[in-house]
Amino acid sequence: MRPPDPVRLTPGKRVLFLTKDPERIRQQLSGELDLRMADLKVEDLLDDINTDAMTPAWVCFSHRPEDIARDAYAGLIVDGKRLFERDALKNGNFEVIVSGYRKGVGSSRETAVQAEKWSGIRIAIAASFAPIHASNNVSQGVLMGNHEQLTRLQAGEGIALAELYREYDPITQIIVQHGGLFPFSKAVARGEVVLPRPETGPRPMTMAEKILSRHLLDKGPGMGEGPKYVKPGDAVVVEVDGGYSHEFTTAQVHYFLTEEYGPDYQVRNPAKFAVFEDHLIYADEVPKMRAFLDKIETLRQLQREFQRHTGVRDFSARDRVSPGICHEVAREALIDPGDFIQATDSHTCMGGVNNALTWGVGSTEYADLVHSGFTTIEVPESIRFELKGKLAPGVTAKDVMLYILLNYAKPQVTLNRVMEFTGPGVATLSMDERATLTNMATECAARTAIVVADDETFRWLAEWRPGLTSADLERLRARAVTPDEGAVYAGGVHEIDLSTIEPMVAHPGDPDHGIPSDPTNGAFVSEIGEVPIEIAYGGSCTAGKIDDLVFYHQVVKEAVDAGLQVAPGVKFLIQCGSQAVEKFVYDNGLADTFLRAGVTLIHPGCGACIGCGPGVSETTDQVTVSAINRNYKGRSGPGKLWLASPLTVAASAFTGHITAYTPGMFQKLRERQPVLAPA
Ligand code: SF4
Repeated sequence: MRPPDPVRLTPGKRVLFLTKDPERIRQQLSGELDLRMADLKVEDLLDDINTDAMTPAWVCFSHRPEDIARDAYAGLIVDGKRLFERDALKNGNFEVIVSGYRKGVGSSRETAVQAEKWSGIRIAIAASFAPIHASNNVSQGVLMGNHEQLTRLQAGEGIALAELYREYDPITQIIVQHGGLFPFSKAVARGEVVLPRPETGPRPMTMAEKILSRHLLDKGPGMGEGPKYVKPGDAVVVEVDGGYSHEFTTAQVHYFLTEEYGPDYQVRNPAKFAVFEDHLIYADEVPKMRAFLDKIETLRQLQREFQRHTGVRDFSARDRVSPGICHEVAREALIDPGDFIQATDSHTCMGGVNNALTWGVGSTEYADLVHSGFTTIEVPESIRFELKGKLAPGVTAKDVMLYILLNYAKPQVTLNRVMEFTGPGVATLSMDERATLTNMATECAARTAIVVADDETFRWLAEWRPGLTSADLERLRARAVTPDEGAVYAGGVHEIDLSTIEPMVAHPGDPDHGIPSDPTNGAFVSEIGEVPIEIAYGGSCTAGKIDDLVFYHQVVKEAVDAGLQVAPGVKFLIQCGSQAVEKFVYDNGLADTFLRAGVTLIHPGCGACIGCGPGVSETTDQVTVSAINRNYKGRSGPGKLWLASPLTVAASAFTGHITAYTPGMFQKLRERQPVLAPA
């Protein structure tokens, strides 16, 4: 349905302000309090509301938006209790929801927007929105505005629709006018929409711009057969090379396509798309998840139904073992240099390690592009990190990302930009370590990340895809992109000397008192004092790669050789990113060392990272040190979660408190404390 123009508040409908003071939210939900923007400051409003808080994983076990909406904001927990009881948002008769900065950070789950929309929200107000969340609002036809506009709306003013979309690119403006992505796409199919054509002339381009320019669907009249150009802000229609969804999202894709195009809907190019079973594979091992096992099974069945219906590539579990986490398997098997890939998960950005442009989209956007084979985007700005030097022993790419999160993401320098990694330092990092850099672009609220290709990129691709011929490799080399001399980086070019990076963590803040647990909460391990832990978790798409397993093993072996086992009272769990990684671990004897040390090895999958597998905390006072990528409150259980590198996680498992690894540390420790947990 097209939105009204001008936009006005509906008499009798209410505005919900998500204040930092939870009591004021409670009073608004119960109907005791109605606030006005004129009475508040932006600083009074919650920042960094993450999509896990809006729709925690268990809420997404329902695939129908109307069911999801019943548990909107179920992840906002205060004093151990839900701030939003079931149906609270829907029953509050709200049509506007208001928050502070960076609304919708975290996972790309579109369910966060659906929970609001199907509760009656038609306008979201915030100081800024996380890029994927904003795009999900556009797809679903939810309008976005700022606090000044809300003040005027509450004063009875009507605001021209164009004022709410004027900062968007021309294609997004048309999508907003039509009330969302599906109405827009149908209007395009009926020939009712004239799309703007690319007009940018020759210019030096970044890696992202080069890939997008090669994927333009409409090359523009009179532009000839030569190279095409784009610049940030250009609204373009681009072909998508491929994509994937997983059992958490596929059911909605199937549902939306069936709703919009009927039960006989078709997808454009199934051989280039895939489904994965990875996110919920071990949910039945988490006591809190047992209540949802029927729903989870429904999601799996709907994904199988989608796969059979469409013929997309099938990475389902066999004998209840997942082939691996979608992003790990996708870079191993699917993503080529120069590709433009879209998938229904925020860590799709990890594929940028293969010199491809890859980012996450919501279920609606994915359903639309898998149906049509193309998508509409605004060419994003870029930021470049020129790496030099070499990491010191005991320091990993994860520490580099925690450093970037603190110094560039926190002040929003990376916001919605493509992070490009170039420079001589890239060659000192393995492909697995480079994948850690691209994986965590989403924590930086960046659009994605991409690493320049070098000989190691093609050596690695040849190793992982043994069927590739030399002609195939030449074809892949020809598709690779490098930035042009003089390419423009709106976020700047920043030199990072890898040799200066130290082991870092991101602390869990104090969420109940307004300091969110956040990946940008960086601190040096040397500064945090003694933080005892109960759980050490190594795994996830960020830290379940072969090199991560080698890192864990390096530490565990030293500890075992020094006669130690995992510290008393600590559970140390390691989960491989894919079956190929697991095979490496067993074939090369790493598994033996882990088992001798008392480590619990888990089959591949997402697991604890998303609160759906062994390794989640069970009480609020449990402390975890984890190699995963995000520590949003409640994501991996109710406890406090510190993010750290694989080396730090493994070292901490043996000392019992958060500890940076230094080579030889356990021998020294054993000499000083000969009674420490002998093996
Ligand atoms: S391991 Fe965690 S971050 Fe990675 S895809 Fe799975 S749930 Fe998402």
